[in-house]
Amino acid sequence: MTTTTQCAVLGSGVIGASIAYHLAKAGARVVLIDAAEPAVAPSASWASAGGLRSQGRHGPEQAISIMAAARWRTLEQELDADLGVLLGGHLHVAETEAEEAAVLARVQADRDAGIAIEQVGAREIREIAPDLSAHLRLGAWTPDDGQANPARVAQAFARAAERHGAACLLRSPAQPLVELGRVTGLLLPSGETLRPEHVILAAGAWSIGWLREIGCTLPLRWRGLQMLLSDASPARVSPTVTAVGRNLSLKQSPSGGIIIGGRWFARPVGAAPAVEPIEDHVLRQWAGATAILPDLRNRVLQRSWAGAEAQTLDSMPFIGSLGETGVYLATGFSNHGFQVSPMIGALVADDLLGQKQDLLNPFRPERSGVPDDAWFRFEREPFRN
Ligand SMILES: Cc1cc2nc3c(=O)[nH]c(=O)nc-3n(C[C@H](O)[C@H](O)[C@H](O)COP(=O)(O)OP(=O)(O)OC[C@H]3O[C@@H](n4cnc5c(N)ncnc54)[C@H](O)[C@@H]3O)c2cc1C
Repeated sequence: MTTTTQCAVLGSGVIGASIAYHLAKAGARVVLIDAAEPAVAPSASWASAGGLRSQGRHGPEQAISIMAAARWRTLEQELDADLGVLLGGHLHVAETEAEEAAVLARVQADRDAGIAIEQVGAREIREIAPDLSAHLRLGAWTPDDGQANPARVAQAFARAAERHGAACLLRSPAQPLVELGRVTGLLLPSGETLRPEHVILAAGAWSIGWLREIGCTLPLRWRGLQMLLSDASPARVSPTVTAVGRNLSLKQSPSGGIIIGGRWFARPVGAAPAVEPIEDHVLRQWAGATAILPDLRNRVLQRSWAGAEAQTLDSMPFIGSLGETGVYLATGFSNHGFQVSPMIGALVADDLLGQKQDLLNPFRPERSGVPDDAWFRFEREPFRN
C-alpha cells in the first residue's frame, strides 16, 4: 500500500518530536516515525542532563536560545504536561584568578547578544547556592536558566503532535527508497510505502548510518557521553552549575540526587550507536563534581549511564535541505540541543512550510565544505578526557 503524507519526521527525540508537533500544529499532515520510541536508551534525549542553559552558546545559536528560554516558561501549559521544568538559574564558576577572565569574557559577550546575564562574586555565589564550595571566586549568572526532564519533553511533544493530528509510527525503522540519488519514499517494516513531500531526518546518532544508505557522508560523527547520579543529598543546589576549568555540569534532581555530566566520553560498544560508561571517567567525573559540591564526599554513586549523540565538526547542528537528496536534516546537535529544541521545532516547521528562516542559515548543511584533512582527523580522533 502507498500512502501520501506531507511530512515524515524520522526520529522522535526532543528534536524530531518538537518538529512534528510544530508542523502538525501549523496544519501539516505529519507522520512521526521512530525505530524505537521517544527518548529510550541509548538516545541522546534519554541520556541528556536536561540543562536549560542560554549562556555560553555559540554565536549563531544565541538568538534561538533566547527565544527558547521564553518558550520554556510556558511549555508545560502549552503541551499540557509535567516536564519537570525548574528555572533555578545557571551559574558558571571560576575557581582561580586565572579563570576569572573567562567568566568576564562570557558575561560581556552574552550581554552584548541580549542574554540576561550578571557577573557575581564569591559572596553572591554563596547566597545563590550556599552549599557549593567556599573557594569559588567569580560566576556568570543567568537567573532565567534551569533544567527540565528531556524524556518527558520528547514524549510530551510526540503526544501533542498526535493531538494535532500527527500519526506516530513507533518501533518502525523506515528504509529510504532512492531513485537517481533522491529519496522518493520510505519503506516501513509493515511493507507500507510512504511518499512524503518532505523527509525530515532527525535521528540523532543514527542519522549517520541512514545518510550512508542514501550515499551521503557529511562531517558528522557519533559519540557517547556519560552521566552520574548520586543518592539524595541534604545540600540544596537550586541552580545548574558548570565550571570554567572542569568538564562539569551539576544539578540537583527533584528527588535530591545530584546529576553530574559535563562532556565525559563513554565507550562505544560495537559499530551501531551503543555506549557504556568508562570506569576511570566515572571516578574523575565524580572527583571534579566533589570539588565544587563538597557534600558529594558523603554521597554514593547511585547510577551511571551513557547516551549516543551526533556531532558535527564545528559542533553546530545541520539544519536544512541536503542538496538534491530530498532530505531535510535536523541533526548533529551535540551536547546542547535540548535547550533549543522548542524553537528548533518552530523554526524548522516554518522553514519547511514556506517561510524561510534566516536564523537557520548558519546551520545549513552546505556549510560543510571542510578541508579533507580536518575531517579525517575529526572522524578518527580518540574520545579521551
Ligand atoms: C549525556 C548527554 C547530556 C546532555 N546534556 C544536555 C544538556 O544539559 N542540555 C542540552 O541542551 N543538551 C544536552 N545534551 C544534548 C541533547 O540531549 C541532544 O542534543 C538532544 O537530545 C538530541 O535530540 P535528537 O532528537 O536530535 O536525538 P535523539 O534523542 O538521539 O533521538 C534520535 C531518535 O532517532 C531514532 N531513530 C534511529 N534510527 C531511526 C530510523 N531509521 N528511523 C526513525 N528513527 C530512528 C532513535 O530511536 C531516537 O529515538 C546532552 C546529550 C547527552 C548525550
